Amino acid sequence: MTGTLTAAEAARIEAKSALFAPPPAVLPDGRRDLVGLSREALAEALLVVCADEREAKLRAKQVWHWIYHQGERDFARMSTIAKPMQARLADHFVIGRPETRIEQTSEDGTRKWLFRFRDGQEAETVYIPDREEDRGSVCISSQVGCTLTCRFCHTGTQKLVRNLGAAEIVGQFMAARDAYGEWPSPKGEAPRLLSNIVLMGMGEPLYNYDNVALAMKIVMDGEGVALSRRRITLSTSGVVPMMDRCGAELGVNLAVSLHAVRDELRDALVPLNRKYPLAMLMEACRRYPGASNARRITFEYVMLKGVNDSEADARELVRLVRGIPAKVNLIPFNPWPGSTFETSSGNAIRRFAEIVMDAGYASPVRAPRGRDILAACGQLKTASERARKAAAA
Ligand code: SAH
Ligand code: SF4
Repeated sequence: MTGTLTAAEAARIEAKSALFAPPPAVLPDGRRDLVGLSREALAEALLVVCADEREAKLRAKQVWHWIYHQGERDFARMSTIAKPMQARLADHFVIGRPETRIEQTSEDGTRKWLFRFRDGQEAETVYIPDREEDRGSVCISSQVGCTLTCRFCHTGTQKLVRNLGAAEIVGQFMAARDAYGEWPSPKGEAPRLLSNIVLMGMGEPLYNYDNVALAMKIVMDGEGVALSRRRITLSTSGVVPMMDRCGAELGVNLAVSLHAVRDELRDALVPLNRKYPLAMLMEACRRYPGASNARRITFEYVMLKGVNDSEADARELVRLVRGIPAKVNLIPFNPWPGSTFETSSGNAIRRFAEIVMDAGYASPVRAPRGRDILAACGQLKTASERARKAAAA
């Protein structure tokens, strides 16, 4: 087994994601949402208001700039487009956003949104400001719920409802930018408050690859949001066959949710390990394109008291990642209502970090952010789901 994607496996993953497909981006009045279309698809959509393909292409370039660079949502304010055309665009199209249902700000500045999409489904997005600099990461969800049932993760207790569409994935970032008044997009690499994207919210991004890939291509496009691939990190629990594609096609930074260094324990904590065990996962990391000392693979390791936090675990981790340009993020377990694990002691975390660091790998301990509003890693779960459970209890 090499772990590369076979045709049969690709077909199986595709059939599965089709089952959880997002609804079409059309309003009840028939107007179509232009957000989330590739440049080519945008030009194709605009054909209905244009004389020919040439014009559609030109309009697509203009509209793209207004949507993704200026953040404009009103066709009437697109000053480079003549009034009659503005009106025709407004007759046929909208520039949508997910609806903000709840917005909460933590005492540490972390902000969490519960967004509602057109079919009433909801997902959470979190903004984590950097403590030292005027920048920060928007943590984006890729699915409503998750099919993988990692034992320590709150999202994993919420059955997958569906994949998010590209419009809904990009839309989370755009709505967050709206909230911080961060339009127009900065030129080049100039940082803003919302300077990075981490695909670490609800869901497994590599089980919704096509929508995630399209969304990331849109935000990376140089004439729009123009976020560099170096500012995007995708976190996976280890969908080995899709890691190759992600590296080759998107080239974003990779984070791998490791959490255990022996198959027996990882099988229990991250059930996907039964399908793609550690040896396969490490091979996929070794061949991830673009990984270098300047662009290391992040291994995420949630610290669970008495479960995976011994010194022997730390030594085994070092052995496992040898030869991979790596950094290890130690995440103290964030409890959630009904969780059974405990957070490792400060001493155990320090000792673990020291062993990893002495072997030459950065091993920062991730301070929990936004715990008071259940916005920290692994605490996301839509409020409607929480309310439903509470009512049933
Ligand atoms: N599904 C993807 C991305 C979302 S989870 C993945 O699993 O990688 C983002 C990170 O939070 C993962 O490393 C996940 O394992 C971790 N996490 C989940 N539950 C947690 C919890 N209760 N406390 C701390 N980290 C947690
Ligand atoms: Fe899904 Fe990631 Fe949570 Fe596992 S840790 S259940 S893969 S969201």
